Amino acid sequence: ATQVSEGMIVHTKTPMVKKARKGVLELLLINHPLDCPICDQGGECDLQDLTLNYGSENSRYKFYKRTVPNKYMGPFIKTIMNRCIHCTRCVRFATEIAGVQEIGTHGRGEHTEIISYLNKAVSSELSGNMIDICPVGALTNKPYAFHGRPWELQHNDSIDVLDAVGSNIHIDVRDHKVLRITPRTNEDINEEWISDKTRFAYDGLACQRLDKPYIRKNKKLIPCTWDEAFEAIRKHLSKVESSEIAALTGDLVDQESQLALRMLLDTMDVKNRDCRVDGSMIPYDHRSHYLFNTTIKNLENADAILLVGCNPRHEATMVNARINKTARNNCVIALIGEQVDLTYPYQFLGNELSVLSEIQKDSHPFNKVLKTAKNPVVILGTSCFLDANSAAILHQVNEMHKKFNAQVNVLHTAAGRVGGLDVGFVPTSGGKNFHEIIDGAKTGDIKFLYLLNVDIDADFSNTFVVYQGHHGDFGATQANVILPGAAYTEKTATYVNMEGRSQQTHQALLPPGDAKEDWKILRALSEILNKPLPFNTLAKLQELLPKFELPIPFEPFKVKASKGKSARFKPMITNYYMHDVISRYSTNMANAILEIQGSNHADV
Ligand code: SF4
Ligand code: SF4
Repeated sequence: ATQVSEGMIVHTKTPMVKKARKGVLELLLINHPLDCPICDQGGECDLQDLTLNYGSENSRYKFYKRTVPNKYMGPFIKTIMNRCIHCTRCVRFATEIAGVQEIGTHGRGEHTEIISYLNKAVSSELSGNMIDICPVGALTNKPYAFHGRPWELQHNDSIDVLDAVGSNIHIDVRDHKVLRITPRTNEDINEEWISDKTRFAYDGLACQRLDKPYIRKNKKLIPCTWDEAFEAIRKHLSKVESSEIAALTGDLVDQESQLALRMLLDTMDVKNRDCRVDGSMIPYDHRSHYLFNTTIKNLENADAILLVGCNPRHEATMVNARINKTARNNCVIALIGEQVDLTYPYQFLGNELSVLSEIQKDSHPFNKVLKTAKNPVVILGTSCFLDANSAAILHQVNEMHKKFNAQVNVLHTAAGRVGGLDVGFVPTSGGKNFHEIIDGAKTGDIKFLYLLNVDIDADFSNTFVVYQGHHGDFGATQANVILPGAAYTEKTATYVNMEGRSQQTHQALLPPGDAKEDWKILRALSEILNKPLPFNTLAKLQELLPKFELPIPFEPFKVKASKGKSARFKPMITNYYMHDVISRYSTNMANAILEIQGSNHADV
């Protein structure tokens, strides 16, 4: 707690220091229970380690220890308040990092207690980090409680794929089951934090899994062998023209399988393909058009941030935490879009496209902010690319870049999107884009549709659908053939985050049943179709992935000046805790909706 300064001499091993340390630990342990054998923090507890190394062997305290009632803090945090040492790390984390003032201290001296205000669940999407920063077992991981000990777990370094941030994580596995996910420090991306969805949605990996191939016969999905499934695909493909074939790749797809599928489509001259399955027609003619160019770390240097059509709190929680950090450094933040609680103060400029053009005028108050800012940043949500107004928005953004030298960024919501755009999983000349493919599948113009992990609620009843993925969700229920794939914890694969940073997941456990890694399925299918892909190993396929240098300067969007209709920005994520196919089957996420949002949401 004392700042180091010039000329200071710090003693760490003198008899006085040793005695003082012993004294502090003795005081801390006065009211601490002898819980270690049944404490979930055992084996990774700061207090346990410090006591072992520096504490005294005996206690001189002869009175009864105090008891403190446990507190309710929501579906993720289990409290055993007898163990609390009142360090107030949790309170400071909630206030300063998470930006929610929902935890505090109550009482004085021996009667001090940590409480959640009004006994409510902590509503922050970062609440799980309090478990990590609590130095003792007062705040522990509720879903993981009594499931394992740290020394029994197999620790695997990996990447989160439930948003486009690419948070670095540890996946802890025992007996072929993911028992918990914890953050791995990466100062450039997630620092030492992760979102609650990243941390707790893992239980969705064990539910509703596709573990064998299926074929639809007499309107029913029947389990079959891989050969039968591939043969059904080959037969159907031989009956259709290449212009009647289309393919889409979903939010959780790795870069290798998107490249493999694109190469397979190229051998069949299929032009109808798209990876932008949220319907946002993000331009891809220059890489800077679809990247978060400022980078997450450099957001800290911004002195003015304009958020357009996005809710970073739900779309990219760790980016929101970084904006919160920047906000504390006197950065001015403004939002055009739906007014939401972003956990930090911001200027709400309205939810109309017209505000963008007004900002260019000297009369608008935010014009002055951008003009005087040294590092102004514009962050575009993917909702800016949803409809015909997109050109007008991008034109205004070009103007801001020109006039104020603003850095322009796209805030993606899907882990697979930038990787897909990088490998060119977009329509080639004359090919159909996402919207046209969906329309074509409805009318029957598209007769064969390959869905690689695409789970969208659309009508595919007039087309032959092949679904390759890991969960039985929207895609699988409409499929004619199902090919079971691997989830991100079950494969070594590349994901490119919103900044354009390429990172790898590492296989922590095997896929269930007959399920296989996606690139292997596509390689095998190419053999059956007599169009063998030019790789037999993951390493060979990874050599074919495009390599890019970072950072790249932003190039203005290629759009003509247009006015756009008066329209409002729409939220891209309406249900934060159940946005993807893994979190939709997570009991932890369902509990979050019930206890944090306090609603009986239809998805639960
Ligand atoms: Fe033991 Fe640490 Fe748990 Fe206290 S918090 S009971 S020292 S493991
Ligand atoms: Fe108590 Fe843990 Fe909070 Fe520290 S971080 S005040 S020990 S609950």
